[in-house]
Amino acid sequence: MKIVTTVAEVREQVKEWRAQGLTVGLVPTMGYLHEGHASLIDASHRDNDRTVVSDFVNPIQFGPGEDLESYPRDIDHDAQLVEEHGGDLIFHPEPEEMYHEGFSSFVDMTVLTEELCGLSRPVHFRGVCTVVSKLFNIVKPDRAYFGKKDAQQLAVIRHMVDDLNMDIEIVGCPIIRESDGLAKSSRNTYLNDAERQAALVLSRAVFLGMELVRNGEKDCSVILSRMKVLIQAEPLARVDYVKMVDCRTMQQIKTLDRPALCAMAVYIGKTRLIDNFFTEDV
Ligand code: AMP
Repeated sequence: MKIVTTVAEVREQVKEWRAQGLTVGLVPTMGYLHEGHASLIDASHRDNDRTVVSDFVNPIQFGPGEDLESYPRDIDHDAQLVEEHGGDLIFHPEPEEMYHEGFSSFVDMTVLTEELCGLSRPVHFRGVCTVVSKLFNIVKPDRAYFGKKDAQQLAVIRHMVDDLNMDIEIVGCPIIRESDGLAKSSRNTYLNDAERQAALVLSRAVFLGMELVRNGEKDCSVILSRMKVLIQAEPLARVDYVKMVDCRTMQQIKTLDRPALCAMAVYIGKTRLIDNFFTEDV
């Protein structure tokens, strides 16, 4: 397993693999890797001859006042995890390597980013689409792996690949949770003990929503209000959004008459956490 920091080094390595007729999978991450990321690396290792993991806290997907500076970083730990899970190359660039002086080209998306995190974080998906496009151009993978944990991101990337005719298979992977239900996230490290306990309202609300859907409830307002009541009973929690959207367009729906995504963002103290379920997975 190798760690490289420049675009040229990635290209050289991938070219060598291509010359041997090998397939390549890409797992884009912001580092501080945990078992959620590991499951994506495992999936890529299963499907491809070689796996590249990008490890880059992408500054342009953070808005003003967000946690760019405090976002946790630990490349030594990441290298060990990637190695253990069969990754072959870590691309760990400095921001200047990705965004040289005068950088001024962006990939943006309309409709799918109007709701959910796109509404709360206005520059976020422009930053995500731009960095993922760059990574696709740098690595030129056969397949790329994204977690359902970031469900809107997965939908946005699938849509971008389709809109822009990118010849890459996008693979969505299930949410990996702690044993008590909390979705694994690099941001969970921000939580103190009381907040860690309070953060369980997200997964509890997800499980309640899933149960209501399983029992045949079709009225989204009934499902969402039951979930919100559960979350609002926790004094440390503040709802950013809890919404039901069409899983393709990411536009809000009122009735479960098509495949949908139920997604939430909730502040636990100062930490903003997300969780969700797809009705198709219920
Ligand atoms: P991040 O480093 O948080 O940007 O995440 C990198 C990738 O890992 C994204 O595709 C995430 O959706 C995915 N991911 C993060 N946490 C989890 C999790 N708990 N389960 C599955 N995938 C995850």
